[in-house]
Amino acid sequence: NAPVIYFVTPTAFRPAQKADLTRLSYTLSHVPNLHWIVIEDSEEISNSVEEILHRSKVKYTHLNTLTNPQMKMKFSDPNWYLPRGVEQRNAALEWIRRQLSGASSGVVYFGDDDNTYDLRLFEEIRNVKTAGIWPVGIVGGLFVETPSLDSEGKVQKFNAIWKTERPFPIDMAAFALHISLILKNPKAAFTYNVARGYQESHFLSSLNLLPSDLQPLAQNCTKAYVWHTRTEKSVLSKSNQQRLAEKMGER
Ligand code: UDP
Ligand code: MN
Repeated sequence: NAPVIYFVTPTAFRPAQKADLTRLSYTLSHVPNLHWIVIEDSEEISNSVEEILHRSKVKYTHLNTLTNPQMKMKFSDPNWYLPRGVEQRNAALEWIRRQLSGASSGVVYFGDDDNTYDLRLFEEIRNVKTAGIWPVGIVGGLFVETPSLDSEGKVQKFNAIWKTERPFPIDMAAFALHISLILKNPKAAFTYNVARGYQESHFLSSLNLLPSDLQPLAQNCTKAYVWHTRTEKSVLSKSNQQRLAEKMGER
């Protein structure tokens, strides 16, 4: 029996939200044994997202939690300004620990709504024994951000060029975790209480992992099956900008 992949997606309203989620839903609809956990950054779950999830035929759980307004990015903020999806990913972790407390199989992956996923990624995710790692395309200023392996095939170092002092200088899309690791470390979570760029590193450290514990996948980390694509901010007319600001409560 193939382990279930719990694919955790925080998602926030913006002009391209439906487009990004539609594309992602079509990717995920090709993946067997996948449970999509979608957490809207909103006061209530929205019909527009619900309809996309329903139409996808993917098994899903639709949650919501609103980011603390002080930590919420505005449409006009630069993308590096604040960490995104923190409270939503934590809501998913809570859901997993509550609903799947007795689970002995399953793998958790944090898949943002605007990345691009090769279907071959999902077979790698399914192979995760404790914590798996693989390369990610176009992120951190690199064509491919990846660990490099020693002669025994263990993770030795990373090729990241940004904040290289991070214990795990990798992107959210670069790893997946066996559910038992998440259940065994009930306090492991994302937090605002770390320096910029430390979300992944802090979370993996809170799971009591060391880089050498990571299981290199995607053909010994030689293949990029996920790309950190970013949907460009929509360019809008003045009147549409105003309607958007009203909808986002940024007046
Ligand atoms: N996101 C969110 N709340 C926000 C901004 C973003 O939940 O205020 C979601 C977003 O939809 C995405 C994930 O968090 O699935 C990461 O955000 P983004 O893609 O903007 O980050 P980046 O690609 O720059 O790391
Ligand atoms: Mn993104």
